[in-house]
Amino acid sequence: MKFATKLIHSGAEPDPSTGAIMTPIYQTSTYVQAAPGKNKGYEYARSQNPTRKALEEAVAAIENGKYGLCFSSGVAATDAVIKLLQPGDEVIAGNDMYGGTYRLFTKLFEKFGIIFHFVDMQDTKNVQSHVNRNTRLIWAETPTNPLMNIVDIAAVAAIARQNKALVCVDNTFASPYLQNPLDLGADIVLHSATKYLGGHSDTIHGCLIINDVDLREKLYFIQKSSGAVPGPMDCFLVLRGIKTLHVRMERHCENGEKIAHFLRTHPKVGKVFWCGFEDHPSHAIAKKQMRGFGGMLSFTLSDTSMEAAMKVLTSTKIFALAESLGGVESLINHPATMTHASIPREERMRNGLSDSLIRLSVGIEDSEDLVEDLKQAID
Ligand SMILES: *Cc1c(COP(=O)(O)O)cnc(C)c1O
Repeated sequence: MKFATKLIHSGAEPDPSTGAIMTPIYQTSTYVQAAPGKNKGYEYARSQNPTRKALEEAVAAIENGKYGLCFSSGVAATDAVIKLLQPGDEVIAGNDMYGGTYRLFTKLFEKFGIIFHFVDMQDTKNVQSHVNRNTRLIWAETPTNPLMNIVDIAAVAAIARQNKALVCVDNTFASPYLQNPLDLGADIVLHSATKYLGGHSDTIHGCLIINDVDLREKLYFIQKSSGAVPGPMDCFLVLRGIKTLHVRMERHCENGEKIAHFLRTHPKVGKVFWCGFEDHPSHAIAKKQMRGFGGMLSFTLSDTSMEAAMKVLTSTKIFALAESLGGVESLINHPATMTHASIPREERMRNGLSDSLIRLSVGIEDSEDLVEDLKQAID
């Protein structure tokens, strides 16, 4: 089955009791049993819910995976992956990543004895040089947030395989429309479905997709034991969002490209970070593993002061100043003080995340209006 058809039909069976074409919101905490243990596969809603099950099947199908598991947020899904580990286990992760993931790793899991190495994963040699016999997990986010660097998933997966470590790819920015990490050798794919999968800025949700049945069992055990499960209404919203992912992503990519080129030629703009430029340092890898370049980009101003950035951030009329991304509406964000404020300044600067960096989540409005809006804010 082709991608667009999978988006609309995976996990979606007409409701057996009424024929309802949309999966009902099974708003229940428990299920009646005929005799103890004699039930229809549903006992208690932390462990199983039919709306969640439909979504878990859908996300598995669209990532070319066998199993999906849904969580109450992207961060809860990340938390479940790290709970596979033991004290003393080591993780190699990128040095340019979602701020909340960095916070979870360093502020919560380091104190339980998990060791994290943050390296520039654009060069896979840096991954290789940090591997040792305690390495259990390689965590890759690509494109990275907010600098749009690209990690070669197949190369990282090969290093992991040699060392019997797992690879988890946070595929939130690309979405399955642009990239399928399981096909490239990853063991786990993570999405903050809050972003492109949901697509309408109306729910917080996360999911994991896996192929290995043992890994699925371990993660399911963590899901039901830790209990960070999504409610059925949120599952419904993501199921609904997924049905138009391809149509939205096509426009996100088109608009992203137009805005990247507009910014690049603007005299007051410094550097534009977008992996679709042929001179982007990892454009070749982006072209190899992705089917397009998406709607996320960031840029600096030639005036590198915080004030200059603040003026642009507060002058747009269509781009809304807000955290998050991947919705139909365009957003503008200041990583240094918003999404990435939990990363210490020296660490940020070292990784190239400067005070004047501005991140855009380009929505699916008319691209001419978006360009005009940026033009009047930058001029
Ligand atoms: C938003 C985001 C997360 C966290 O997801 P939540 O749904 O906000 O918990 C993780 N990774 C990336 C790349 C994100 O953008």
